[in-house]
Amino acid sequence: MTPEAQAPFRRIIVDRMTHLAEKLSDLSPQTEVIAPDVSIGRLSRLDSMQYQQIALASKRRLEDERNRLREAERRIDTSTFGCCLVCGSDIARERLEIQPDAVSCVPCMRKR
Ligand SMILES: [Zn+2]
Repeated sequence: MTPEAQAPFRRIIVDRMTHLAEKLSDLSPQTEVIAPDVSIGRLSRLDSMQYQQIALASKRRLEDERNRLREAERRIDTSTFGCCLVCGSDIARERLEIQPDAVSCVPCMRKR
């Protein structure tokens, strides 16, 4: 993929990272440590801890996605974006538009 063809994806990646940052900041109050003396209303302490675990799992997922997007951005910087890391051929544009952090083409992804 030429650098000119790669350029529009930077916008997609930046937008997605902005969106992820918002989701992560929405989650952060739910992932904080629950103090033993805090009043938690109707919810039992056990429920609160379960919600916290779910929030932490979501947070990890979002952070993983953000790391993959950062990598994708770096691949644009080095003009290697859109190139399958397995076979070296171009990844379909349509795939990258939906999943800009994709690192392999569909045939290679299916083989794994
Ligand atoms: Zn491939």
